[in-house]
Amino acid sequence: MSETKKSGFFSRLFKREKIEEENRETTAKTREETASPTPEPLELAEAEILKYDDHEKDLVKLKTGLKKTRQGFLGRLDKVFLGKKQLDDQMVARLEEVLVTADIGVKTAYELLESVTERVKRREVDDPEAVVAHLKNLVREMLLDVEAPLRVGYGSEPFVVMVVGVNGSGKTTTIAKIAARHTAAGRKVLMVAGDTFRAAAVEQLEIWAKRIGCPLVKGKEKADPSSVSFEAMELALKEDVELVLVDTAGRLHTRVPLMEELKKVKRTLAKKLPAAPHETLLVIDASMGQNAILQARTFNEVIPVTGIALTKLDGTSKGGVVVGMSNELKIPVRYVGVGEKVDDLREFNARDFAEALFAGIDVSEED
Ligand code: GDP
Ligand code: MG
Repeated sequence: MSETKKSGFFSRLFKREKIEEENRETTAKTREETASPTPEPLELAEAEILKYDDHEKDLVKLKTGLKKTRQGFLGRLDKVFLGKKQLDDQMVARLEEVLVTADIGVKTAYELLESVTERVKRREVDDPEAVVAHLKNLVREMLLDVEAPLRVGYGSEPFVVMVVGVNGSGKTTTIAKIAARHTAAGRKVLMVAGDTFRAAAVEQLEIWAKRIGCPLVKGKEKADPSSVSFEAMELALKEDVELVLVDTAGRLHTRVPLMEELKKVKRTLAKKLPAAPHETLLVIDASMGQNAILQARTFNEVIPVTGIALTKLDGTSKGGVVVGMSNELKIPVRYVGVGEKVDDLREFNARDFAEALFAGIDVSEED
């Protein structure tokens, strides 16, 4: 092996370890690091991928997608404060009602309310506009806590992402979207049809695979998902695949057998590659509202989730759940889904999200 090749290998290996460590970090530290616009120099391919993301267009899309959420949240805040110059007790009581019945969860609602009333008591905040500004700041802080984009560590071994979530949450679609981004950046991607329970689920991934031009490993009908994963890992290692995306079944999350199956898939991946899966990505349908938080908690208790992708933020009125989920679970939010098309996936950006959530009703009319 030549010197240059060797040093390339080691630097990649080193970089890879660093990336994995970064992905593991959550909460406060992550927040510091990701708060800056460009946290770390990216590998070339990832930089290429991000070039496709047009920030201005993304923000408009997010604002449009969150229109219904905004109407159910800020729209109601507006009614509490409309035309009022001075805060009064009645307004605070109505604010409580609005927050508690928003989809942010009771715990988060009271945290926000407590902070507002404290500021009011200390006379730091005394007009409605300042209350809204303070709420927006608080929400942004909560979201910044979980803003930690997934960095795929391209290295000497495949980076393995196991995707879990209940049926219909958007696992298969999200896998296709991720695969498309990395395939477009010239990376060797492999999709694994681990949802062997439903024939239609395998077919769905096959259609995406053809469309994107990404290879797929599938088993026979009703094959054991673990054996399909094992086969896929063997192929990935043999073919120097860089990114492996494993789809899984998602029948009712409360049923123990599914969780056992997922644990087995996870163990199987690790058998072929001890560090795998590098990411256990939970896909959650944001339109489930409060139930989304419960789902995330249930999954996380069984197989520790390292990242979340929140789908269907377009068109739901329950997008506020992102705030409650972030504040209660503190699991990094990697992606948001804003539509059914292959390019309707965005890296989660806390500032943009808070911006879109609190964008004035007038602004939303312009979108
Ligand atoms: P799975 O059962 O978890 O694999 O879910 P699928 O990937 O099959 O998605 C279920 C449905 O949700 C499909 O009709 C998708 O097109 C749709 N879907 C997935 N993500 C999004 C999203 O971000 N926005 C919208 N509007 N629909 C989505
Ligand atoms: Mg599926």
